[in-house]
Amino acid sequence: MRKKTRFTFIVDRSNRTAFATLVASLEGICEDPFLRLIRPEEFAALDLGSSPDLIDIVGFSTMTATFDACVGLLRRLKMHKHGPNLVTMCGGSHATGRPLEVLKSGFDYCCVGEGEEVLRRLVVNLQSYGKVGEVPGLLRLRDGKLDGSSRSPCVEIDSLPALPLRRKFPTYIEIGRGCRWACAYCQTPRIHGRIERFRSARSVEMVIAKYKEFGMRDFRLLLPNALGYCSTETRVTNCDAIEDLLARACKAADGGQVYLGSFPSEVRPDYVTPEAIAVLRRYVANRRLVIGGQAASHRILKDIQRNHTVEDIRTACEIVQGYGFRATVDLMFGFPDEDAQAREETFAFMDELGRKGIVFNMHFFMPLPGTPLAASSPSFLTPEDRRRLDRLASGGIVRGGWRRQEEIARQWVLGRQDKSQCP
Ligand code: SF4
Repeated sequence: MRKKTRFTFIVDRSNRTAFATLVASLEGICEDPFLRLIRPEEFAALDLGSSPDLIDIVGFSTMTATFDACVGLLRRLKMHKHGPNLVTMCGGSHATGRPLEVLKSGFDYCCVGEGEEVLRRLVVNLQSYGKVGEVPGLLRLRDGKLDGSSRSPCVEIDSLPALPLRRKFPTYIEIGRGCRWACAYCQTPRIHGRIERFRSARSVEMVIAKYKEFGMRDFRLLLPNALGYCSTETRVTNCDAIEDLLARACKAADGGQVYLGSFPSEVRPDYVTPEAIAVLRRYVANRRLVIGGQAASHRILKDIQRNHTVEDIRTACEIVQGYGFRATVDLMFGFPDEDAQAREETFAFMDELGRKGIVFNMHFFMPLPGTPLAASSPSFLTPEDRRRLDRLASGGIVRGGWRRQEEIARQWVLGRQDKSQCP
């Protein structure tokens, strides 16, 4: 018997943008009340899996740092809600990197890669045949092994809006996907591929105009390398495309604020040119630009395959400040084989540029699933490193979540040793 399908997506701050694009892709196929977005604490009060003519699909999305919490939530859900019509599914960066672990932790299905086509195909299968069937990118366990075809093809993102248009779901506006670079610690090119795809300026303008009607005032454009928008050549910014995008975005925002190049985006230092920064200065509301530096040691930059130099970071900061922006440089400690000398070079760099008003966002390395460094171990900070970072933080030169991230990385590495049977 064919049954109706109802999606319930469990949304928190860390997965909101991912769910926004998924919901946008389902518009016209699956609507209220068959598509629900809830907060984690809300599922207990919901009817799930109890209706005989309705399949309830509960969707989770998680990254590595939130995976344990996500599994805890799944267990609570299964304690209260069960039955043959309840199906649980997990996607996101962790699911893409470690599908076997995700399935062994209790999810019925795991979505690897981009989820839009997976969900659309799933709806068609359920509506046509009453069962999940074969869906590229959707895996399950059979006899303890992964079963299903590999990932779905990359989505043509410009054919779908960045945010849902029929319901208000404000979050960052994704303007592109994929990254031609392949930094060894980063999941982006492993999830979305190395062919960069961009939303057209018209599509971004249309979404902003709609959300302006919804009452949104701040529009934060999301791209891993913000100055790479519509770039067709390595390290060549497409200033005309960036200007067209920002001009349209600001017009549609109609007095609202448009942000690009600050959180959650950043810019690679080797894309910073006076022309590109002048374009940003004319349009964006942010007065701070975030430059992805990651390390100030030549050896580490080479090891992690950043393909830019320490001098590129220094020059980018000078250009950015010359145009009246404040520069924040993203750095990371804890890379594998990061020795005292490499760390000293980064400290010296922070001392030098800190005196010129540059601020550093310090992160701690995490060996993320699916990346070339997934099996490596972080180089944990020494007590003296922590003291030096704390001193820089009290002087306003360093900020960021390195303390918490180092602890998460430590727990993750310990847990990984326990789960070493998972790929
Ligand atoms: S860190 Fe940035 S530039 Fe490097 S692969 Fe990831 S998204 Fe691309």
